Amino acid sequence: MTDTKIMLPESEIPTHFYNIVPDLPTPLQPPLHPGTREPIGPEMLTPIFPLELIAQEMSQAPTIEIPDEVRNIYRLYRPTPLFRAKAFEAMLDTPAHIYYKSEHVSPVGSHKLNTALVQAYVNKQEGVKRLATETGAGQWGSALACACRLMGLECMVYMVKISYDQKPYRRIMMKTYGADVVASPSKLTEAGRRVLAESPDSPGSLGIAISEAVEDAAKRDDTKYALGSVLNHVLLHQTIIGQEAKKQMEIAGEYPDLIIACHGGGSNFAGLAFPFLKDKLNGSRKKLRAIAAEPAACATLTAGTREYDFGDSAGTTPLMMMHTLGHGFVPAPVHAGGLRYHGSAPLVSHLLAAGLIEAEAYMQGEVFESALKFARCEGTIPAPESAHAIHSVVQHALKARASNEPTVILFNLSGHGIFDLSAYESFLSGKMAMTA
Ligand SMILES: *Cc1c(COP(=O)(O)O)cnc(C)c1O
Repeated sequence: MTDTKIMLPESEIPTHFYNIVPDLPTPLQPPLHPGTREPIGPEMLTPIFPLELIAQEMSQAPTIEIPDEVRNIYRLYRPTPLFRAKAFEAMLDTPAHIYYKSEHVSPVGSHKLNTALVQAYVNKQEGVKRLATETGAGQWGSALACACRLMGLECMVYMVKISYDQKPYRRIMMKTYGADVVASPSKLTEAGRRVLAESPDSPGSLGIAISEAVEDAAKRDDTKYALGSVLNHVLLHQTIIGQEAKKQMEIAGEYPDLIIACHGGGSNFAGLAFPFLKDKLNGSRKKLRAIAAEPAACATLTAGTREYDFGDSAGTTPLMMMHTLGHGFVPAPVHAGGLRYHGSAPLVSHLLAAGLIEAEAYMQGEVFESALKFARCEGTIPAPESAHAIHSVVQHALKARASNEPTVILFNLSGHGIFDLSAYESFLSGKMAMTA
């Protein structure tokens, strides 16, 4: 009988991040200055990011070394286990083999700590005292709050108002780590005050909260900004997920036909998929399919257009070439708060445009139906975000049953849903907006 969970020793924590940029078939379009529409140089980013992260953002190097200090803290939860979802397979009565990488085992319950630790460490090295950021569902804020504490920095979090109200436990968690947390739009920044003047009851959005955090960092000398997704360097840091998963799949003696992850800004998808896509890009695994699963309520990849747009809603960031619903888009308040972002990572958008990856969009009700099935087979209650990947897995496992194809599916369990039980309550009690 094959193992249920495949573990790696701490010595197998990756030593380098994998940079997909030099392996791309065509070059990425550079970010543009919002005023001149000319490609930006590093100087435009120095008020808000440390030099090392700017260098990583623009790097053409195939790999980037992980600092020992960061690898040492990774030992708290890495390498994360790879599970074979045997009960889930049996329940779906599918010939597919379903594996999942369990990023929910991190101390904060999601993959986001992987990059938060690197960002906090690099800022500390460059003398920064305080990091400002935004958070949607609270996962990124709690990851950065934890990382700042472990690295000895202060942390200021602008939390999207709807989540601030719906997710008190994430807020308390950030405060437990010693971070300052305010509901966004807030009165602390010009960007926040502008939104409140127009719509005092605004539920907020990631775009608005980003504007607030960037403004905070730009105004203070001791403070830099940290972003939990979208940017090249964030996706880069997450590639430790896929590198570990590749070794674990090797131990399992299989290679995935399908790689599936949910998509908000693209980082957990990139983190799992990019190290495998390296094999597709070099021609050794031409048939590999990588699928990003997004909410129908914020269908950036399947309904958005690829064009230059702002990363924030106030229109202050550099313009990025990405799939976007428009920086003014405010998605319906679905429970997967981490997927309510108007844009997609330039790298993920580029791969989609090149036909190298695929995207699917699902409605909230069907996603929670699959989340419940998974929890009842595998025990772990998935984050509503991760449940989008699970729902996609169910579709492909059922296709494998219909065609009797022995498909190998690998998906990312990007986070657990223990802080999202009010969303499960809304589903269980029949109050959820199923077709949102
Ligand atoms: C933030 C988050 C996401 C979405 O962000 P990506 O950058 O697309 O990965 C997905 N799952 C969980 C659990 C999250 O916390």
